[in-house]
Amino acid sequence: MTEHHNIKRINPRRAYEIMTNGVKRITLGLNSDYVAHEVSLHQTSNKPLRSPKKAEKRVLVIAHSERGTLDDHAKQCLAAAAILADAETAVVALVLGELQEDLSNAGVDEVLVMDTLDYQTFQPDIELAFVKNIITSLQPSRIFMPDNLIGDGDLGRRLIASQPEKLAATHVIEINNAHIANYQLGGNAIALASFPYIVLLAPDAADTSLPFSASALAIDPLTANQQMRHAQTPSYASLGMQTIDAAKIALEEADFIVSAGNGVSNVQTLQTLAAALDAAVGASRVAVDDGKFSRDKQIGATGKTVSASTYFAIGISGALQHLQGIKDCRHVIAINRDHSAAIVKRANLSLIGDAEEIMQALISAIAEAKITAITDVKLATQEAA
Ligand SMILES: Cc1cc2nc3c(=O)[nH]c(=O)nc-3n(C[C@H](O)[C@H](O)[C@H](O)COP(=O)(O)OP(=O)(O)OC[C@H]3O[C@@H](n4cnc5c(N)ncnc54)[C@H](O)[C@@H]3O)c2cc1C
Repeated sequence: MTEHHNIKRINPRRAYEIMTNGVKRITLGLNSDYVAHEVSLHQTSNKPLRSPKKAEKRVLVIAHSERGTLDDHAKQCLAAAAILADAETAVVALVLGELQEDLSNAGVDEVLVMDTLDYQTFQPDIELAFVKNIITSLQPSRIFMPDNLIGDGDLGRRLIASQPEKLAATHVIEINNAHIANYQLGGNAIALASFPYIVLLAPDAADTSLPFSASALAIDPLTANQQMRHAQTPSYASLGMQTIDAAKIALEEADFIVSAGNGVSNVQTLQTLAAALDAAVGASRVAVDDGKFSRDKQIGATGKTVSASTYFAIGISGALQHLQGIKDCRHVIAINRDHSAAIVKRANLSLIGDAEEIMQALISAIAEAKITAITDVKLATQEAA
């Protein structure tokens, strides 16, 4: 049995990225510049297990989940915490919202789920009080949060403001154990600072493909519920999320995008499908150049960069310039008649066939499903009455 103790090897020639303004930026963990610092043969996957024995310290990563999963940005925070943690430090994930995925490949040693605190309900002071209680009880040596617009960035700033005596940094774009960095002078320079207590990490500062897995043990939710009792009651009423017309949402903010390429001959069918799915509409450059869509719909290197949960690419080949614009999308579904198209390789699910035929079939299936759902609700209401 081979065991490596606390070995960290940093490749001095590791990859870095030159930003458009000439600034050099290194991504933590990218190109395997890091080797797992504790491995054992008790593996849960084919990766070595990072398992801090008798962890004396904890680092805490706090993030909201969405539909039972953590997004890539949250997982980058977990990866950063796990890569930087030494052999005596456990990585604890505090997930606000339900969690239905296994976080062992995200480098998490312990998971605490608080499913009543999801981002859909506006309750910042309750969340803050809860998080502060957890911090008091876990006494983490560091805290990581995604610096995003879906609740974590807001909660992180509230946390920072509530602990003025602690060092904190926002918009952190580069991180290692010695320092953190963020942009200054409008992005024309990078400023380094010593490692703070609270780090709000910008997207893409760490690589999520870790060379190790972790045990991801659930912490007893009872503890969390007890903590919850100490949380204060809100002085306002949350009206919940408001649904707005997907067509009115900026593409960069859309969660579901139906996008048309040169293989879409009937724009009306595509728009009907997008409306049925309550999705925003995007397009490839060729579809825009053809005059089928306005320029603001173009997605790609010279168009918009989108980060939808689901990107539905219809009749789009998946040219490099287009793929650049969808690199942050979580799920890609493609319709294409060419099974060897680059978009099919990028897609999580592909439908091979004629775009018009498949779109028509989907529109009919969605209409049927909606009728069934309405009928079920009516029957249930009648039964209840
Ligand atoms: C500097 C530069 C910047 C660029 N910037 C961008 C950019 O920002 N965004 C962008 O999108 N492109 C950009 N491009 C263009 C890019 O290289 C591609 O030409 C473009 O993305 C192709 O668009 P497309 O996939 O819709 O069309 P095509 O390449 O024509 O592909 C059409 C696809 O539809 C499929 N298809 C055809 N008919 C059907 C059917 N009936 N049913 C199902 N599938 C069908 C085909 O198999 C094919 O895969 C840029 C290029 C350059 C040089």
